[in-house]
Amino acid sequence: MTNKELWVSVLRRLQPTIKKAHFITWLQNTNIVSIENGVMTVGMPTEFSLNWVVQHYAVKVLQAAQEMNAEILKVEFKVEGTYAQAGGNGVDVQTLFSDEMDKKVRKIRNANEVSVVKGLSTGKIMSQMMNHKYSLDNFVVGHDNRLPHAACCAVANMPGGIYNPLYIYGGVGLGKTHLVQAVGNEILRNFPDKVVKYVTAEKFVTEVVEAIGKRNTQAFKDQYRKVDCFLVDDVQFFARKDSSQQEFFHTFNDLYNGNKQIVITSDRAPSELDGMDERIRSRFGMGMVVELLLPDFETRLAILHQKCRENQLMLDPEVLDFVATNVQSSVRELEGVLRQIMAESQLFNRVPTIRSVAEIIKRLNKAQKIIGYDIEARQGRSIVKNAIDVLNIVAEYYKVSADELMGKDRHKGLMLPRHVCMYLIKNELNESYEKIGDGFSGRNHTTVMHACSQTARKLRTDLRLVRDVNAIKREMGL
Ligand code: ADP
Ligand code: MG
Repeated sequence: MTNKELWVSVLRRLQPTIKKAHFITWLQNTNIVSIENGVMTVGMPTEFSLNWVVQHYAVKVLQAAQEMNAEILKVEFKVEGTYAQAGGNGVDVQTLFSDEMDKKVRKIRNANEVSVVKGLSTGKIMSQMMNHKYSLDNFVVGHDNRLPHAACCAVANMPGGIYNPLYIYGGVGLGKTHLVQAVGNEILRNFPDKVVKYVTAEKFVTEVVEAIGKRNTQAFKDQYRKVDCFLVDDVQFFARKDSSQQEFFHTFNDLYNGNKQIVITSDRAPSELDGMDERIRSRFGMGMVVELLLPDFETRLAILHQKCRENQLMLDPEVLDFVATNVQSSVRELEGVLRQIMAESQLFNRVPTIRSVAEIIKRLNKAQKIIGYDIEARQGRSIVKNAIDVLNIVAEYYKVSADELMGKDRHKGLMLPRHVCMYLIKNELNESYEKIGDGFSGRNHTTVMHACSQTARKLRTDLRLVRDVNAIKREMGL
């Protein structure tokens, strides 16, 4: 058995004991690096995932490994940055779940031919209409959205129970679509043979209009009456669309009377739905009505952390703090800013700093006033322009001398500062590799190139280095 095969078996053992979302977040792109003298070393793609796994799953991993190979006495973890890259040697844990899905479908097929059709058709609806990325696990729960989240969990565990209909309302970009689709995904996971239908009110209206045009309203009605769980997004869109409202009203009543679960989202409370039939409004209020509010600072920060993990993005905690402070309007905007930060850091191969992020926020116009950073004042500040200054700042920061940094000594404590120094001179001053090499005791340009690319790579996984480089950049006036 190769190390990779062994690791896949260990993962299979672990899989039932860890929530799927966590399993994917934390164990994606991992593998066994080596097994020597009873010590199994597991490579992790990032320091984030390493810390989490060590804290939460180290014992489980050891137990599972020992079940597979009794000679393993100890498990150690190390960051193996190359695993995070596409085509890296880490195991893609998603593949473990596709097997699971196959088994489920096969099981249903064996049990009962009718539910195969249902199960498969549910799969079809799900894949056409719902986004798999939305789950109740990856919805960050904070002070202001605890109740909506809890209500959704209750519905997903017991569709058609006491929270029926469930009505979720709140402003744009606060997570309504995420929650309602997560309910659908979770119900399909808990009850694979249920038929779940997700539709936006807008789409429903289009379908009604089409059905009327083609004179096949009966087929339209039948399609919706077969549903076990009906998810309708953005019902405010029904306002003043009378025939669609009527159709919706009948569908709603039939499903409700059949104890089918209904989940509705809207940008306002039922009582504020102008242009909506009073009978419908009152039915919306019959079950559970919950409001999604703007997340507070801590929740915004937690959401940013989560999105960074999902995207394997490494950011200085101060930068995250800064984004959470300045982007307050919605979660969607938070994501937008983060996407932009990610794009720019990949494109220019640079570590995002408060300065660069402040500029992004300003450019995207996501904050009325930037708090905690004054771009104009900073622009007036002198920015370090020559290599000697960079050298002195780096030397000062790492408590070594500038001569030592430039010298030939390959002492361990000097290597990192020297590489950081070369990296900054290259990236911030745009000096040529040859010139940098000359300055550092006549080193070859390929040595400098190697130092720079190695530092850039480390910056993707090493949080401490990210912090150091940011601190030095601040000293440089960047
Ligand atoms: P709405 O439907 O209310 O306009 P969405 O559900 O489309 O908002 O949410 C916008 C984005 O923000 C989505 O990508 C969603 O995943 C994300 N989001 C919103 N709230 C949260 C949360 N609490 N945790 C994680 N992601 C969230
Ligand atoms: Mg939405």
